[in-house]
Amino acid sequence: MKSAAPRAVCAFVLMLIVAMACTSVRAWPRRRAPRESPGTIPMVIRVYVYREIPKPMSRCARELVTLILARGGVTAEWQEGRAIRRGHAGDKPSAGEAAPVLVTLRLMDAPAKPSADTTSRTLGFAVLDPETGRGDLTTVYVNRVLTLARRAHGSPGELLGAVIAHEIGHVLLGSQQHGRSGVMQAEWSEHTLRLERLDRMEFTSAELTRIHARLRWVLVESALAQRLQSIEFGP
Ligand SMILES: [Zn+2]
Repeated sequence: MKSAAPRAVCAFVLMLIVAMACTSVRAWPRRRAPRESPGTIPMVIRVYVYREIPKPMSRCARELVTLILARGGVTAEWQEGRAIRRGHAGDKPSAGEAAPVLVTLRLMDAPAKPSADTTSRTLGFAVLDPETGRGDLTTVYVNRVLTLARRAHGSPGELLGAVIAHEIGHVLLGSQQHGRSGVMQAEWSEHTLRLERLDRMEFTSAELTRIHARLRWVLVESALAQRLQSIEFGP
């Protein structure tokens, strides 16, 4: 994706020590009711997969992302993008026309040599315009997620889902800022992912207020744009 905006990078470093089974995540919603009724705002996540990911890992990650978003009143719809591969042009990972709220997610391996705006510990990043906060492109480095999960004896699917939710959070918030707790915290200790602390893996109330305000405005803008397109202006 070509981006005219400067590339702002979120170095999302996880310090994960505790292992956790994916099945525990499926039980998560029963442990604590959502703060808000889920499904109030629809959002499309268009995924471009540039490397092999085991199906259980992918499924686990998407379940966790969907849960985190649903608890924030956002219903995620997953769409498969055609990634660029050898001999195939694929789609352009760009967003805008298909849905009012759309996030583009690239799942790929990190380059051998970190770029100028990432480090060897960067697990993912979101590209946002630093002035407007607008942006839709997120990237997660799957090989680093796998490495960290293996070292931590943790669930790679959950770790992948957590990183994805974090980067999508930057897009929804329109900011590269981090919170002191919840899914948007920059560094996670072992306590964050313990079974009894899973409820912290959500957006904070303040973050949800900002997310809902931004998404509603995006929906209003989209509705206005469609309305304007339907109006015929005379000479
Ligand atoms: Zn971040």
